[in-house]
Amino acid sequence: MITGLHHVTAIASDPQKNLDFYTKFLGLRLVKKTVNFDDPGTYHFYFGDEAGSPGTILTFFPWPGSFRGRKGNGQTVRTAYTVPKNSLGEWVDKARKAGVAVEGPQVRLNEEFVTLTDPDGMLIELFATGEHEKGLGKFHSVTLAETNLDLTAGVVGGLLGWNKVAEEGNRVRYASSLEGFVDIEAVPGGLRGTSGAGTVHHIAFRTPDDAAQAEWRRKIEHAGLHVSPVMDRNYFHSIYFREPGGVLFEIATDPPGFTVDEPLAELGQNLKLPAQYESMRGRIESVLPKVTV
Ligand code: ZN
Repeated sequence: MITGLHHVTAIASDPQKNLDFYTKFLGLRLVKKTVNFDDPGTYHFYFGDEAGSPGTILTFFPWPGSFRGRKGNGQTVRTAYTVPKNSLGEWVDKARKAGVAVEGPQVRLNEEFVTLTDPDGMLIELFATGEHEKGLGKFHSVTLAETNLDLTAGVVGGLLGWNKVAEEGNRVRYASSLEGFVDIEAVPGGLRGTSGAGTVHHIAFRTPDDAAQAEWRRKIEHAGLHVSPVMDRNYFHSIYFREPGGVLFEIATDPPGFTVDEPLAELGQNLKLPAQYESMRGRIESVLPKVTV
């Protein structure tokens, strides 16, 4: 079963500006400070709720000085969190005071939201649908921009089994069994997105355990899509595949989670390295830019 969204991973430029925006301004917790497992001279930051719960995790690869990407077709162009009802006015005030670009409130599918722009131009939406008391809650949705909506809908609806729950203009909404939406927006003739700072690298769906993931791997392969072997990401296990429109999808397990290598109270405080890089810690620490959390 795919129970919802697990995380969203994006590209940033300046690591300090990225940290400040997501922790100080948005109020998320840095739940893991590690390196890109495929490029250990680069940070990998994980932000989320206090416990780093699946469905709240936004992660970044910050490459200092990297060029901005172009948001466009074949990409996840918007990432949305829930915030408490009636809190949008406060967010607009807060953004204006902090010099953060903000648009709205606007309405989409009968729900009110505002759009914030992060330091690299990534769009973060806040929907006033949360049942919680303050700050950011779980993911509300992601929006994929596509040249051909039907092909992507075939994967999200058909293969992954999410239910079509709404439609408005050029947008179709799919819901998982538990929470969170995937919106697919048709942009016929739109430019393709290019990767770079301010763009989403991939989105991850959550599944309860390794056995369920193995089952998904078989189904995806059977559907004729190329799917990666299982990768150990320390905090979850992952498989990756590209949907026909070009968006990179991942299916990640809920366990073991972020407390696998440091206690809950200390999440994010120390640089954590996977076992294969521990012997290179000194060298890695000397090349990573200094940041203050
Ligand atoms: Zn991922």
